Amino acid sequence: MKISDIERGVSVRTRVKVPIRPRAGKVRFEPEMVTFSGLCDNAEHLALVFGPSGAVPHVRVHSECLTGDVFGSARCDCGEQLNEAIMHFGACGGILLYLRQEGRGIGLYNKLEAYRLQIVNGLDTFAANRALNFPDDPRDFRVAAQMLQALGVREIALVTNNPDKAMQIAQHGIEVNRCLCTGVFANETNRSYLHAKVVHHQHSINLSGDYQ
Ligand SMILES: [Zn+2]
Repeated sequence: MKISDIERGVSVRTRVKVPIRPRAGKVRFEPEMVTFSGLCDNAEHLALVFGPSGAVPHVRVHSECLTGDVFGSARCDCGEQLNEAIMHFGACGGILLYLRQEGRGIGLYNKLEAYRLQIVNGLDTFAANRALNFPDDPRDFRVAAQMLQALGVREIALVTNNPDKAMQIAQHGIEVNRCLCTGVFANETNRSYLHAKVVHHQHSINLSGDYQ
């Protein structure tokens, strides 16, 4: 796919500075929140541009997780990863792409149904998805490449443990210069979830240490 194919019809709609106060730390940042027109799935994805982070910007592509991001659910590590990205980008610059792909693309209600299956039937996160007739991970990261193109970004350092995410973004015309791993946010509740991501999808998460 050529870059021009991605760019066609995708543009920045609005840029507005919004002061934010991260959950952890008594700090305040003022990223630019950016909205878009013409994204391939027509969802309301959001970019937070924290300012320059060198010639190759650091980018985190975060999929929405209401339970983790908003309520601090201990079943996953999403809230901690989001907060880590905000604290890092607030201090050093970077771009956070917040994708409205709740439950790895299956939606909030289905995600909670999958949680129930995990608890009642002992399935791991991917087996539970399959039991609900969803693929392991139906997310499409083309939209992230489109957002970066609209922001004028061609080359990135991607903050991720997920090799598939890096591959998909590269396939859609963004040069992924390197990947930077996130911290490890294991606890007694999410440890099997993190383990499944390592075993089934080769995520780079070192689970050999103590819980954090
Ligand atoms: Zn989560």
